[in-house]
Amino acid sequence: MSIDATHDPGLRSWVDSANTGETDFPIQNLPFGIFVDASGRGRIGVAIGEYVLDVAAAIETEALLLQGDLACALSAESLNSFMSLGAASWRDARTAISDLLREEAPRQDRLLRRMAETTMLLPASIGDYTDFYASRHHATNVGRMFRPDGDPLLPNWLHLPVGYHGRASSIVVSGTDIKRPHGQLKPDDGPPVYAPCRLLDYELEFGAFIGSANAMGSPVGIGQAMDHIFGLVILNDWSARDIQKWEYQPLGPFNAKNFASTISPWVVTMQALAPYRSNGPARQADDPALLDYLTPATGSSDAIDVIAEVHLSSAVMREAGTAAMRLSRGTLADLSWSFSQMLAHHTSTGCPMNAGDLIGSGTVSGPEKTARGCMLELSWRGTEPIDLPDGTQRRFLQDGDELTISAFCERDGATRIGFGGCSGVILPAG
Ligand code: MN
Repeated sequence: MSIDATHDPGLRSWVDSANTGETDFPIQNLPFGIFVDASGRGRIGVAIGEYVLDVAAAIETEALLLQGDLACALSAESLNSFMSLGAASWRDARTAISDLLREEAPRQDRLLRRMAETTMLLPASIGDYTDFYASRHHATNVGRMFRPDGDPLLPNWLHLPVGYHGRASSIVVSGTDIKRPHGQLKPDDGPPVYAPCRLLDYELEFGAFIGSANAMGSPVGIGQAMDHIFGLVILNDWSARDIQKWEYQPLGPFNAKNFASTISPWVVTMQALAPYRSNGPARQADDPALLDYLTPATGSSDAIDVIAEVHLSSAVMREAGTAAMRLSRGTLADLSWSFSQMLAHHTSTGCPMNAGDLIGSGTVSGPEKTARGCMLELSWRGTEPIDLPDGTQRRFLQDGDELTISAFCERDGATRIGFGGCSGVILPAG
């Protein structure tokens, strides 16, 4: 996944809205997603400026000439087959699509649909979903709040990427409303009750879609892990903190996390992200040495510098036309464990991963207060409420609140690329 001609900052597209310098989707990005076609079926698209390129139509009309298995996979109703073909095929497709859209190529407006008029679906059929806990800042903050007397990091945290097996069936695409869940809550002064969640939260995360599978019994080595990852989406891991507090010991999160997780519709490929690789934070002087299977090769730069922003708008704010309020801004490069390390650890037992499986990073928090990636940390468990422009305060999310996460990459010598948005509105428990 190296930098090639498709990343050239000088490239422009015949789609004018891709050349503004501000769009999330210049020709250097080319993320894949699934849009609904006229017959109501899913179809593979590539985002370009304010448009979606209909990839299957480009193949049918021979505007896009690809090998048989690649052409077949890109004419499917989800990205799973394409993801399963592996990095060489992903690169071939990207190069061909870049050539089709570049300024020097003939205009093919009939292959475009206005993005504003398209409905997006989940990009893949997600077989399995795992969520990690890879931010040292998040783990430390949560540890301080819940175990004020001990070391905020539990003893295993510095030795392995901690995770849990999540629930794929409740992953939804951006724009889907989120119903406040009911659950078992334990008041401090009485027996548990079954009631609507009162401490509803979001978690700013990124999700990595697995492309190349590994066979059961065959771990993915740390040096190969990046080649197994197709691309990234924004992930909001909605969390019911009161349900979580009562249920999480001894086996970890369960119903607190299984009612909904939202992802952005466009998968930004690892190839598009190649110019934004970085080294991530150094391990601290007194941190333990990593075991070999988690030790990246020297200079492997497996971290990715993606900046993410979280905005909140209440129903009142939206009615009044008030702009959404920014809650935080952080970067994926602050994660202490890379997706390569997460995947190497996940498969270290021989656990098989399949195309379309999703790995969540865990809440992305940075060292600064402005880079805390969830309400639990921002309001410090509700003790430091946040003032909204409509005159109300938030400790956790209220019905009618819309939470939006956006993300982009920027670096000298490269073209800015973005992820689009990942949003959801909270509906009452009913
Ligand atoms: Mn999470």
